Amino acid sequence: MTRTNGDHALVLGGGIGGLLAARVLADTYDRVTLIDRDRMPVPGEHRRGVPQGRHVHGLLARGQQILEELFPGLTAELIAQGALAGDLLANCRWYLNGHRLRQTDSGLTVLCARRPLLEGTVRARVLGRADVTLREGYDIVGLTATPDSRRVTGARIMGRSDDGTAEDVAADLVVDATGRGSRLPHWLERLGYDAPPEERIGIRLAYATRAYRLSADALGGDLVVINGATREQLRGGLVQLVGGETALVTLTGRLGDVPPVDPDGFLAFARSLPFPDIHRSIRDAEPLDDPVPFRFPESVWRRYDRLRRMPAGLLVIGDAVCRLNPQYAQGMSVAALEALVLREHVRAGDPDPRGFLRDLARVLDGPWKISSGADLALPGVEGRRTPVGRVMNRYVSRLHATAASDAEAAASFVRVAGLVDPPGRLLRPALVARVLRGTGSSDGVLRSGVIGESPAIR
Ligand SMILES: Cc1cc2nc3c(=O)[nH]c(=O)nc-3n(C[C@H](O)[C@H](O)[C@H](O)COP(=O)(O)OP(=O)(O)OC[C@H]3O[C@@H](n4cnc5c(N)ncnc54)[C@H](O)[C@@H]3O)c2cc1C
Repeated sequence: MTRTNGDHALVLGGGIGGLLAARVLADTYDRVTLIDRDRMPVPGEHRRGVPQGRHVHGLLARGQQILEELFPGLTAELIAQGALAGDLLANCRWYLNGHRLRQTDSGLTVLCARRPLLEGTVRARVLGRADVTLREGYDIVGLTATPDSRRVTGARIMGRSDDGTAEDVAADLVVDATGRGSRLPHWLERLGYDAPPEERIGIRLAYATRAYRLSADALGGDLVVINGATREQLRGGLVQLVGGETALVTLTGRLGDVPPVDPDGFLAFARSLPFPDIHRSIRDAEPLDDPVPFRFPESVWRRYDRLRRMPAGLLVIGDAVCRLNPQYAQGMSVAALEALVLREHVRAGDPDPRGFLRDLARVLDGPWKISSGADLALPGVEGRRTPVGRVMNRYVSRLHATAASDAEAAASFVRVAGLVDPPGRLLRPALVARVLRGTGSSDGVLRSGVIGESPAIR
């Protein structure tokens, strides 16, 4: 039986995080209102508020599973609209640390769709509910609170098309899902609270993405080719078939190396990647648009969970809490995992923000370790390196070498990369033994037991 926590929940931001929050809140609140500054296009069309939507948006296996749970039949609905699905390992060519992972059935789904189609289809499902409303074309300019600021009571919004008159929208619960540009630290300070401390990994990542016409068999039966950066070669790239004889090609540079957006420069950058697959697939293909750029200076985790005080009636989700290096394709799946935490906390009644934020931090711990750990393996990336992290990176590098011929090691890795298993699963004794056997065990640190004793890797 569902129970209700109050009349009205307000979700700030109607991106993936906001939509998933609205979906789970609708089970326990009588009404849910989403606010977004954009006027929403039909599914499949780009919009201003999500500029990253022009770039490849891989949905990891765990994200696909959760979306399917929250919206039964969504995968089939997306496929009916042109999206492609396959196996996360059997149909994906992963080049990591200079090794091509052995392709085998992992039992996990990779769903290949453009972000506007994915988001638009989810949006249609959420707004198909009678208890969820979207107010589009409104800027969120702040929070409202009780006179003692102990409880947030709603948000102040301003119509983009009218005379700039502010309107206060009252709610029993407010969830900030305004993404990377969230102003929540500032809004909290205005209410007399501290801004959260932040963890940062400086990667100065640059993207360039272009769509090409490619037939469904252009990648030899694969749906995705991933060319990851290595210590020696910081450039990377990705090609993903997205249906309708279209592929998105994203090229990445770091630390000031920027993939060009002129057609010749784009192709030359693709040719410079250590593996030729991406360049070969596009060199004679028909481009469907011009390359578009994106800059992502750093991964940032706002540690709201470390604040001593938070007002009641206020939660935060998605990129507003943690924005991860997009190369690992975690953001939407992490938002899905966070929506499950939100569901648990609102089921139990009026949620306690600090308890919610603690549980959110537990969910974020694994993805953050994967993203920051892999980035800190690369020279020049800014962030705090630890001995445990260094050992772990050497181990993962050996794991990739083993996974070039060992299907089980490859499957174990993609289960973690797909957020289905926690990172600690890579350290189970049977797998460690295979890795050490598979690549020679000359590394004394690995054999000394440091990994097994590490409290930081669970
Ligand atoms: C280049 C790039 C590539 C990426 N690739 C992947 C990938 O392959 N796989 C993956 O899972 N993730 C990827 N991500 C991450 C993913 O885009 C985000 O993690 C995800 O969109 C987070 O959702 P969100 O709802 O928190 O934020 P968003 O989806 O960004 O949504 C925020 C929403 O809030 C609205 N908004 C913001 N401020 C206001 C305001 N003041 N008033 C009104 N409305 C406001 C915006 O219009 C927007 O609709 C990528 C990110 C980037 C930058």
